[in-house]
Amino acid sequence: MQSQEEPVNPHNHISLSRRSLEKATISYINFTPDKRIVYANPFACKIFGYSPEDFLTKNIFDISPNLSEKRWAEFWETLREQFYFHYFDTCKRKDGVLFPIEARAYWIEDNEKPTAAAFMEDLTEKRKLESDALLKQFIFQKSATAILQGGKDGRILDVNEEACNCLGYTKEELCNMTIFELDASFSEGEIGEIWDTTQAQQVFTFESMHRRKDGTVFPVEITANSHQYNGLEFSICFFKDITEQKREQQRKDKANEQLQKTQKLEALGILAGGIAHDFNNILSGVLGYAELATLRLHSRDEIHKYLQPIIAAGQRAKRLVNQILAFSRQEKSKKAPIDLSRVIMESVDLIRASIPSTIEIKRDIKPNLGLVLADETMIHQVIMNLCTNAYHAIEKKGRAGTLEVLLERITITNKDCLSFPELIPGRFLKLIVADTGHGMDKETITRIFDPYFTTKASGEGTGLGLSVVHGIIKSHGGAIRVYSELDVGTTFHVLFPMEETTSEEPAQTFESLPNGNECLLLVDDEELLLNLGKEFLEGLGYQVETRASSIDALEAVRARPEKFDLIVSDLTMPHMPGDIFAKEVKKLRPNLPVILCTGYSDRIDQDMFREIGIKDFLMKPVLLHELAASVRKILDTSS
Ligand code: ADP
Ligand code: MG
Repeated sequence: MQSQEEPVNPHNHISLSRRSLEKATISYINFTPDKRIVYANPFACKIFGYSPEDFLTKNIFDISPNLSEKRWAEFWETLREQFYFHYFDTCKRKDGVLFPIEARAYWIEDNEKPTAAAFMEDLTEKRKLESDALLKQFIFQKSATAILQGGKDGRILDVNEEACNCLGYTKEELCNMTIFELDASFSEGEIGEIWDTTQAQQVFTFESMHRRKDGTVFPVEITANSHQYNGLEFSICFFKDITEQKREQQRKDKANEQLQKTQKLEALGILAGGIAHDFNNILSGVLGYAELATLRLHSRDEIHKYLQPIIAAGQRAKRLVNQILAFSRQEKSKKAPIDLSRVIMESVDLIRASIPSTIEIKRDIKPNLGLVLADETMIHQVIMNLCTNAYHAIEKKGRAGTLEVLLERITITNKDCLSFPELIPGRFLKLIVADTGHGMDKETITRIFDPYFTTKASGEGTGLGLSVVHGIIKSHGGAIRVYSELDVGTTFHVLFPMEETTSEEPAQTFESLPNGNECLLLVDDEELLLNLGKEFLEGLGYQVETRASSIDALEAVRARPEKFDLIVSDLTMPHMPGDIFAKEVKKLRPNLPVILCTGYSDRIDQDMFREIGIKDFLMKPVLLHELAASVRKILDTSS
């Protein structure tokens, strides 16, 4: 029993009739100083779970288990002096369940025998409501969503902790402000509209801009709920900072745009590939006949000076086809012949100045290695991106390390083109950027050129560096390769085609080319190319048969398997492509060598092709002197 101070009327005296006690909806228990219960009204019986008879067999300690003898004595003493005792206690029901009560006890004297009359109110429900209210308050305060309660006039009535965090104000400050001070986009008229919509729909979600105490403005998504209480109308607004969400959306839109662009370019690439295939055949004719004409002339003939430009122009066209094929995403680039050594030196100087000296830069860049037709800014960008990545990789692995930049001159032959199908054989400058950084696993390597692929933290990497590098190199008719080992380092090789200065090499003649008298079979669906090849090879002394279809050619071999010493066949032909043809030939005569002419876009599995008897590959458009060399070499090695 815990007493609570309450002004007490000493004359407070109850004299309720039994009848009203029987009807009362409050527990009433009458007990004596010797702890006996002498009466319990029906409501008390119901609350405590006893029958009226049962109740009378209990004493007060049975229903008030927390009561001590000391408190019991105090209770009677107070009651005797003040006739009234107000207290809180925990009672026990018949089934053992404890419940809280608030009680008012009165002193009754009956025939000079005192008893106590106690009215007890069961507080279970009230306590539950209280704790529910506390819980709700707790949830409101601690919710991870910012919550603001506003009145119809725009006054802020309550906010939770997250709202304060979000806005940078204290609760006191906010509760003295109006919504107009937080949100510049709410005019008083507009808030009326929002209010009406919220009332009509009960909930209304919309976006707006809020201003923090420090003045910064940020986008929010607000869900306003209409709420009524005690006849007053409120708006309970949940809001969240959607800066990140907006950023993410922008990023997605951009990626989407990029994707669409890429897809468009891809479609263009496929189209260009188709055109280039035919165009290459036409070029083969132009170049081939010009070459043939050169061969027929005496080496000092005047006509050479007319034929040379035709060949040079043809070769330029060849390069152009490559450009179309290696379709670039570059906009308008300003290409000019530049000295790559110089540009690389300059870029490396810049990098040296901007990275810590714990990173050693080794460079081996000889001056004047040659000219490259390129956009200087773009080349600069390539080197910067590669070196920055290298620097990041070294830095992340453990600060110190080595970055190596090399430039050398190399020649890509027809055969090298199998591993560099995007290149046209010729002279190249090879840039090597190697680092001793953390390296990459296989999965990373396959994705590094994808736009937006990055393994770096947001803010550190955009994932665009290498895709830009890739685009630039493609647009320069070059190639890029990456070699990397986890925890060891990474090396990038970049090849740039050198600007060919029109060669002043002495004109070739039939006599100066390797020749022979073996019997050759030429297979190509292009009549023009067949005639060209026949005339050229016959000019070298060979006996030449031609077939415009692989089916006919196979027939010719079947008819006289021993007749031919070598077959030169196109790869792309209707009905039966060159590789299948070669396979069939092998069945008829296993040791008959085949040279295959392949176009740019043909995918070639060199090892597989070698197995089916293909001895050499020539990239179309085939240059006649290369054909002569290949034919002679294969004949010599096969016999
Ligand atoms: P970013 O540098 O913004 O991440 P990049 O396109 O330049 O974008 O590179 C893409 C990813 O390729 C990098 O996040 C990294 O994982 C990997 N990468 C590029 N260069 C190197 C390197 N030299 N060493 C190790 N990883 C690299
Ligand atoms: Mg990068």
